[in-house]
Amino acid sequence: MTSPSLTTPLSTQHQLSTKSPLTAESSLTTEHQCDSSSVRLCQGCELPVDKMDIPHGKSAYCPRCGTQLYRGGTPSLSGNLAIAITCLLLFIPSHFFEFISIRLIGVMIPATLPSGVFTLMGEGFPLLGLLILFCSSIAPLLVCSSVLITHVSLRFKIFVPFRYSLAIIQTLKHWMMLDVFLVSVAISCFKLQDYSDIFVGPGLIGLILLQLCSVLLVSRISVRRYWEAWAKESDYAFAESKNVHCHNCHLSQPDGHACVRCHHELYHRKPYSVQKTWALLFAATVAIIPANVIPISILITNGQRLEDTILSGVASLINSDMYGIAVIIFVASIVVPVAKILGLAYILICIQTKRAVYHRQRMTIYFIVKWVGKWSVMDLFVISIMMTLVDRGQILNFTPGYGAVAFGVVVVLTMLAAESLDPRLIWDNYTSKDESVNEQQ
Ligand SMILES: [Zn+2]
Ligand SMILES: [Zn+2]
Repeated sequence: MTSPSLTTPLSTQHQLSTKSPLTAESSLTTEHQCDSSSVRLCQGCELPVDKMDIPHGKSAYCPRCGTQLYRGGTPSLSGNLAIAITCLLLFIPSHFFEFISIRLIGVMIPATLPSGVFTLMGEGFPLLGLLILFCSSIAPLLVCSSVLITHVSLRFKIFVPFRYSLAIIQTLKHWMMLDVFLVSVAISCFKLQDYSDIFVGPGLIGLILLQLCSVLLVSRISVRRYWEAWAKESDYAFAESKNVHCHNCHLSQPDGHACVRCHHELYHRKPYSVQKTWALLFAATVAIIPANVIPISILITNGQRLEDTILSGVASLINSDMYGIAVIIFVASIVVPVAKILGLAYILICIQTKRAVYHRQRMTIYFIVKWVGKWSVMDLFVISIMMTLVDRGQILNFTPGYGAVAFGVVVVLTMLAAESLDPRLIWDNYTSKDESVNEQQ
C-alpha cells in the first residue's frame, strides 16, 4: 500500500481557498503564511491540509472528501465534565423508575428499561437482551464515566487510563442508542393504544433528559482536543515530512511504528480492512435470510398463536391503518440493513477494481451508512418493550421469535462492517486535475 505523495502546503491552501464550498470560512483565503508545522493530514482521505484558525461555532471540512477536520474556538473541557456528571446522575431516574405503564385487562403493568432486558434473558434470549442492554445502557454509561476518568487522569497526568478512556469514548459513541430507544417507546405506545390505557412514568422524563445531555456531550467531545490538552500538536517538531495520521489521537507525523504522542500503532490503512469488511458483509448477508423468513415476534391472544415475520408485521400494521409506523419499521428493518450491505459492497468493489471516478459520492455513501446504521436496532427495542408490557399469560402475551436473534446478528455485523472499512482506501487511486498539476510543480 502506498501513501499519497505530500502536496505542498501552498497547493493545499490554494485548494482550500478556491474550490471548497464545504470549507466553512471564506476568511480562510486571507493572506496566510504557510509553514510545514501547521500541515495536517485529513483523517478521511490523507490529503495534507493547512491548519488555520477559524471562529467559534464554525468547522473546517476537507475540501476533497468532506470529512470534518476540526472545529473552531475552544469550548471548555470542564463543560464536558459537567455534562458527563449530569448524565451519570440522570442514569438513576431513567433506569430505575418506570418510563411507561399500561392498564391491560384491569392490571397495571409498569416497564423500566432494565426490566425488558431481564424478561428477554429470562425467556431464553440472553444475547438479544445483552445487545439491548449494551446499546441502551452500558455504552452510554461507559462513555459518560470515561469522560470522568479522562478528566481525572488529565489532571494528574496518568497516561494509561487517559489513553484507554479516550479509546472507549471514540469506539462506543456510535453504540449509544437512547434516541432509537425513545422512538421505539413511541412506536410501542401507538401499537398498544387499542388494547390498553397508557400512562407516562417519571422514567421517561429522565430518559429524555439523559438523551438530550448525551447528545450534547457527544457533539462537544473531541478526542483530538483532549490529546491537545495532554501534549500540543505544535510541540512536536518533525524534521521529515508528515505522511501518516494517527487514528487514535489524530496527530499527523512522519512514518514510524508507534505514534509519538499516544503510543498507538501507526498504519496508513487499517490492516486487512477490505478482507474484514467483506467477511462481515458475507456473514450479514447469510443472516439476513433467516431474519426475514423466521418469525421475529409471537403474539398469543386467547390461546391463539399469531406469528409475525418482519414483513408480515409491516403488513398487519398497514391493515390496522398505522401507515406511518409501517413505513418507519419497513425502512428501519428492511431497507436500512439491505442498503447498508449493498452500499458497503459497492464501495469495496470500487476499491478493489480501482475505480477512478465518483470518489466523493462513495464517501457520501460511507457517511450515510455509518450514520443510519443504528436505526435498524429499533425493531428489537420495540420487541423488548412490548414483551415487558404485554405479559398476561394465555390471555394476551408477546414473545420474540428466533428471527429476532438472526436480525440482531445482522444489525451487529453490518455496524461492525461499517466500522472496519477504512475510508482512506476510497481515495487511494484519486487523481484530480488540480492535484496532478500540483505534483508537477
Ligand atoms: Zn479528506
Ligand atoms: Zn497517536
